[in-house]
Amino acid sequence: MASSRPRALSGIQPTAGSFHLGNYLGAIRQYVALQETHDAFYMVVDLHAITVPQDPAELRANTRLAAAQLLAAGLDPERCTLFVQSHVPEHAQLGWVMNCLTGFGEASRMTQFKDKSARHGADRATVGLFTYPILQVADILLYQADAVPVGEDQRQHVELTRDLAERFNGRFGETFTVPAPYIVKEVAKIYDLQDPSIKMSKSASTPKGLVNLLDEPKTTAKKVKSAVTDTDTVIRFDAEEKPGVSNLLTIYSTLTGATIADLEQKYEGKGYGALKTDLAEVMVDFVTPFRVRTQEYLDDTETLDSILAKGAEKARAVAAETLADAYDKLGFVPAKH
Ligand code: ATP
Ligand code: MG
Repeated sequence: MASSRPRALSGIQPTAGSFHLGNYLGAIRQYVALQETHDAFYMVVDLHAITVPQDPAELRANTRLAAAQLLAAGLDPERCTLFVQSHVPEHAQLGWVMNCLTGFGEASRMTQFKDKSARHGADRATVGLFTYPILQVADILLYQADAVPVGEDQRQHVELTRDLAERFNGRFGETFTVPAPYIVKEVAKIYDLQDPSIKMSKSASTPKGLVNLLDEPKTTAKKVKSAVTDTDTVIRFDAEEKPGVSNLLTIYSTLTGATIADLEQKYEGKGYGALKTDLAEVMVDFVTPFRVRTQEYLDDTETLDSILAKGAEKARAVAAETLADAYDKLGFVPAKH
C-alpha cells in the first residue's frame, strides 16, 4: 500500500486489561481520526509491557484485549495497519542501534522513567524500563512516521526521537524522517478523578480515580458521581483553580461535541451534582456499546489473530526496508549475497 499520505505511528501498552478514558481521549480518538488523512500504523506494544512485571497468561490475554479495544474504538484494518510489536522483530533490532546512539545522561533525563521507577522502587526497576524510550524511538523511526499521536506524557519521548533521528542522519546520512508529536492540547492530559493533580494512568491511578472503558457501566457512573471537585459550587473551566471540575468539563465536551462555553452556560446556577449526573449518563452511553463491540472481537479470536497477522506482514515490509537501510549506513556487512 504505497501511499503519498503522511505517515502516522503510535502504540499502546497491554499493561492492564482495560484501556482508560485518558488513553481514549488523549490518544485513541486521534488514532481513529488520522486513519482518514494518514498512512497510519498502530501497534500493541507488548515489548514495552514487559518493562514492568507481567504474568504470561495475562499478557497474552491483554494483548488480544488491547487489539479488540482498538478495533472497537474505530480502527479499521482496511484503513490502517494494526499489529503487535513483538511480531515485527525489527523493533528490537533497531532498538539496539538506537541504544548505542543515546547518551546515558540523555536517557537519565526521561521523566517517565523517574516517575515509574520511583513508584516501583528505584532498585527494582529494570534496565528495560530505563531504555524503553529508546525502543520507542526505534518504533517510530522504523515507519518513517511524520506524526505521532500521543498524550502529553509522551512528548519528551517524541523529542528524544527527533534528536536521535537527526543524530543518525547527521552521522550516517539521510535515513530517517524526523517525526513531530501530534498532541491535541485540550485532551492531552486527562486527570485522575480522585486526584486531579496526576494523570489518569493504568498503573498509577487508584481504582476510584481510573475510568476503565470496560468497567461495568454502573461502576463508571458511580466513579463519575464521586469525582473530586472543590468546595465552591461554580461550574467554570479553570485548570489551575478548579482542576477537578475542569477535567470533568473536558471529558464532557470531548464526548459530546458541546463546547466548554456551552457547558458553563448550561450549568450556570446548578450544582456539581447536576453536572456529574449528566456526565455519568454520557459516559454510560459511550462505554456500553464499546464493551459490546470489544466482546464481539474477543469472541472471534481467529478473525482477530488474522487481522493482527495481516497487520504484522504489512508493518514488516516497511520496517525491514528501513532497518536494512540503517544497517547499511552503519557499515554492517550485508547478510544476503
Ligand atoms: P502505564 O501507566 O502503564 O504507562 P498509561 O495509562 O500511561 O499506562 P500507555 O499505554 O502508556 O497508558 O499510553 C497509551 C497512550 O495513552 C499514550 O499515547 C499516552 O500518552 C496516552 N495517555 C495515557 N494516559 C493519558 C491521560 N491521562 N491523558 C491523555 N493521554 C493519556
Ligand atoms: Mg504510559
